[in-house]
Amino acid sequence: MTIDNKFPGKDLTDDDIAGKIPLVAKKTPDHNTKFTCAGIEFGGDLIPVMAGPNLAETEALILDCAKAMKAAGAHFLRAGCFKPLTFPYRSEKFFETREKGLEWLKSAGEAVGMPVVTEIMHIDKIDLVAEHTDMLQIGTRNMQNYPLLTEVGKKGMPVMLKRGYGASLRDWLMAAEYIALEHDNLGMEPAILLCERGVVANHTHRSSSRFLLDLQVVPAAQEVTHLPVMTDPSHATFWQPWVRSMMLASIGAGADALMLEVHPDPKNAAVDPLQCSSFEQFAEMMQAMQPVAEAIGRTLKA
Ligand code: PEP
Ligand code: MN
Repeated sequence: MTIDNKFPGKDLTDDDIAGKIPLVAKKTPDHNTKFTCAGIEFGGDLIPVMAGPNLAETEALILDCAKAMKAAGAHFLRAGCFKPLTFPYRSEKFFETREKGLEWLKSAGEAVGMPVVTEIMHIDKIDLVAEHTDMLQIGTRNMQNYPLLTEVGKKGMPVMLKRGYGASLRDWLMAAEYIALEHDNLGMEPAILLCERGVVANHTHRSSSRFLLDLQVVPAAQEVTHLPVMTDPSHATFWQPWVRSMMLASIGAGADALMLEVHPDPKNAAVDPLQCSSFEQFAEMMQAMQPVAEAIGRTLKA
């Protein structure tokens, strides 16, 4: 893989690709990695969808979500348990469910036969989170927490690596290389899913929207890396009415997977109520996305 190097320093250079990301860089233009997580293939024709509430709020809520996500055709149940909440004070309104949440998430996934994914923030919780999940998510705030990336990589489990909200493509792929290096040490192909979740921008079109979905990074990343690339329109838009169009557009842009937040009662979601979709909205989106996927030779049906 060589790229136009007329503007070295702007982002990735040929030297970066050859020397700093040898494991995540494409070896030929049509080199694309496929990996399977709990029987679901990433990087192939299927566009897996990961859906669920921001927080595994209660045992009943996560089970309710699991049933609705399964019925709508989602492939993974996702929910936060250990949450990177922006400020340190906990109350009835702002809380994490931590170890309890993990138990609920795992049982809800098992109850409906769905694999689960959740965020991992603490090195000393990696074994615990790994025992309860099928895929480990690294959040935007930890994309450059290199010791965490290395330790998570050592588990040899599939990892979803969210892009830091201020990170360049170069930063992101070099962070992925930390995980890929550990997967390589274990003798496996890298099982890493890159997730674009919105970047900081001067203009976000609403005062409450903090980020902009960088759809252009999907083909830009795919030009350089063989890893699958996905998007997260919920966190990117931070505004539910824009999620549907950004889900459809992500498929058009070539996203290899999608995630979004769904809640039985969005207005009363414990975290991020502005961006989460209702069960009905989610089910409708799943219907609307299938013909778009088919138009480009892909599918949402496993
Ligand atoms: C999340 O997925 O719930 C989350 C906290 O995302 P991000 O790291 O993208 O903010
Ligand atoms: Mn969230």
